[in-house]
Amino acid sequence: MSSVSMPHVAGTGLEPGFRGVICASFGAADGTAERHSGSQPKLDLHFDSASPEALSDLRSALGSSRVGVRLLLSGPTADIRTAAAVAAECGLEQEEMTLLSDETTLRAIYCPHCNSTTATVEPAGSEVLCGGCSTILTTTDHFSRRLGAYLGYRAHVEEAS
Ligand SMILES: [Zn+2]
Repeated sequence: MSSVSMPHVAGTGLEPGFRGVICASFGAADGTAERHSGSQPKLDLHFDSASPEALSDLRSALGSSRVGVRLLLSGPTADIRTAAAVAAECGLEQEEMTLLSDETTLRAIYCPHCNSTTATVEPAGSEVLCGGCSTILTTTDHFSRRLGAYLGYRAHVEEAS
């Protein structure tokens, strides 16, 4: 005799066929997901961490949604990576997810051409546009204590004419 297990749907209140944005935030992240996505329906989920319970809630939310859903994950990098892996298992494509790590910090990039600094959240090795002279700078992880900024260098040295 099998005891009937209640289909415990974790109160996500998601209608079958939901097409919209699911915003899942983790940890102390609060309000980072407040990006407006037009008139699309939006579902907010908040979890303390990417615990097995949280992930199964997320899975059931994604499981009852259909093609066209987008997922916005915010919080500590480890949690949102774990959640993204679960979403991928549920069939979400990489481009249907947005990951907002709250450990991303602004870094100042020093421009050797005009001596100004430009703030960026991009990691070292990426390109930023200098706010001072519009040179495209490649960022480095070389921090100058004297300048109080990371050094940048001109990205396209060979650019001609
Ligand atoms: Zn510059």
